[in-house]
Amino acid sequence: MGDNVKKSLWDDVDYNELDPLKENVETDVLIIGGGIAGISTAYHLIDSGKRVTLIDRDVCGRGVSLYTTGKLTFLQKLIYHKLEFYHGFEKARDYLFATKKIINEVSEIINENDIDCDYEEVPSYVVSNKNEDVLSFNDEIEFLKKCNIDAELFLETPYGENKFTLKVNEGAVFHPFKYINSLKGICLDKGINIYEKTVAKKMRRVSNKVIIETDRANVTAENVIMACHFPFVNFPGFYFMRMHLERSYVDVSKRNGNFSLITADSPITSIRFHKDNLIFGGSGHILSKKYSYLKRFNSLKEKREEIFPGTSVMAWSTHDCITQDGLPYIGRFDGYSNVYVATGFNKWGMTNGSIAGKIISDLITKNESEFQHVFNPRRKIRIKNFLKDMGNSISNYFTHSKKKELIKINEGGITKEHLGVFKDAEGEHFVRTKCPHLGCELFFNDTDKTWDCSCHGSRFNIHGQVIQGPSTRDISL
Ligand SMILES: Cc1cc2nc3c(=O)[nH]c(=O)nc-3n(C[C@H](O)[C@H](O)[C@H](O)COP(=O)(O)OP(=O)(O)OC[C@H]3O[C@@H](n4cnc5c(N)ncnc54)[C@H](O)[C@@H]3O)c2cc1C
Repeated sequence: MGDNVKKSLWDDVDYNELDPLKENVETDVLIIGGGIAGISTAYHLIDSGKRVTLIDRDVCGRGVSLYTTGKLTFLQKLIYHKLEFYHGFEKARDYLFATKKIINEVSEIINENDIDCDYEEVPSYVVSNKNEDVLSFNDEIEFLKKCNIDAELFLETPYGENKFTLKVNEGAVFHPFKYINSLKGICLDKGINIYEKTVAKKMRRVSNKVIIETDRANVTAENVIMACHFPFVNFPGFYFMRMHLERSYVDVSKRNGNFSLITADSPITSIRFHKDNLIFGGSGHILSKKYSYLKRFNSLKEKREEIFPGTSVMAWSTHDCITQDGLPYIGRFDGYSNVYVATGFNKWGMTNGSIAGKIISDLITKNESEFQHVFNPRRKIRIKNFLKDMGNSISNYFTHSKKKELIKINEGGITKEHLGVFKDAEGEHFVRTKCPHLGCELFFNDTDKTWDCSCHGSRFNIHGQVIQGPSTRDISL
C-alpha cells in the first residue's frame, strides 16, 4: 500500500490555516477543538449574542473527523434493542429520535448555507450471514416499529451472501471535511474568533470564570466546551476510566454504488461510496500494542477483495472513544456548571458530534435541551465494562522490549524500559516511551510511523512531538 496508507480521501480540499492565539483574551464561550463536535457547537452559537472563541491544536476538521467514513445514519448496527435493555425504552427511543432529527438538521444547514459537501441521501442497511443473529434482528425490527420507523427484513442484500438484511430508506453520506471547513468559514464570517495551532494545556477556575492556559496565552471564559475528542482534563471527570479506544481501518478501491451498509458482526464491516470510490471499513480492535496495524490493513483488503475485487487506491486508520453503556457523554462536565464536554461518540461522531453542537449550545443559551437526559455525562458507570477497560489499560503499562540490533531501517521498537528508537536513513531517533498523559507505555505504529499510547490514544511523531491528545506534552529523553 506504500505511501497511501496515511492518506484520507477527504484530504483533497484547499483550506486556510488560521493564526495561533498569541495574547490573553476574554470571551463568553471558549470551544476547545474544531472537529465535528466543536465546529457544530460554534455554528449553533452564531446568533446567540455571545462572544465565541474556538481554539484547535491543529487545523479545524483535521483531527479524527478527517478519517471518518462520513455516514449519517441512525441504523448504527443492531444497537437499539441493547440500549432498550440497558437504559429502558424511552432513553433508547430518544437516542434514535435525537439521531434522526440531527440528520435532518445537518441537511437543512447544508441547504440553507448552500454548502457543497457532496451530500447524498442513500438507504442504510445492516446485514448478517449468521443464523444465530435472527433474534437480534427480530428484536431490532420490533423496537424500530415501536418507534414508527419503517424498517423491513429483506432476503436480497447489496453485499455478499447474507441471511438477514435490515433496510431503512433514511440516511445520507457526505464529505466530512468539506462540511466542517465550510462551517468554519461561516463561523469566521459571522464573527467567531478561531485560532489554530493552539493547544489547551490546563484548566483552572477563578471565581465563576474558567481560565484555559494554552501554549502561548490564556483564555478567560464564562463557559468552556471540551470538544477535543478525548478530554485533556483528567480530574474531575475521570474520562480515562469511563471510555476505551477502538481503532478501525479503511480501504478505498474503485467502484460505484449508492447505499450505506454495516454488518452486525464484530469487528464490523462498513461500506459506502463516494463518487467512483468504494470506502470499505473494518478490522477494528480495542487499542492495544498486540496488534500490527499493517496486518490489520492487509486482512481488511483481503476481505474486501473477496467480495469486490480490485486494487486499493488509498487506506487509512483512526481511533474513536467507546463508552461503557453505548451512549455518548454530552453535556455538563463533572464538578463545573459552566464547563461542557462532548466525547464518547462510539464511532458515530458525524451524528453524535452534531447532536453535541445542538445540546451544548442550547444548554448555554437556554439552560436546557430536548435530548440532554439521554447523553448526561454525569450518569453512573457500568462496573463490569469499567473493570474490562481498566484491565486492558493496566496491561498497557508494561514494556515489551526488543534488542536494538533487531530493529530494521524504517522500523521502531522499544529497546529497554521507556526507551524507544526509530531507525531511518538519517540515523536513530530516540524517544522516551512513557506517555506524559497518564504514564502508559507507548508502542510503535508501523503504518503511520508514530509512537502511540494504547490506553488513551495520544500519538507522537518520531521526534517525540505530540500530534494527537489527550497528552498536551511532547515525549523527550
Ligand atoms: C474508521 C472510522 C470511521 C468512522 N466513520 C464514521 C461514520 O461513517 N459516521 C459517523 O457518524 N462517525 C464515524 N466515525 C466516528 C467519527 O469519525 C468520530 O466520532 C468523530 O470524527 C469525532 O469528532 P470529534 O469532534 O470528537 O473529534 P476530532 O475530529 O478529533 O476533533 C477534535 C479536535 O480537537 C482538537 N484538539 C484536541 N486536543 C486539543 C487541545 N488540547 N487543545 C486544542 N485543540 C485540541 C484536535 O486538533 C481536533 O481538531 C468513524 C470513526 C472511525 C474510527
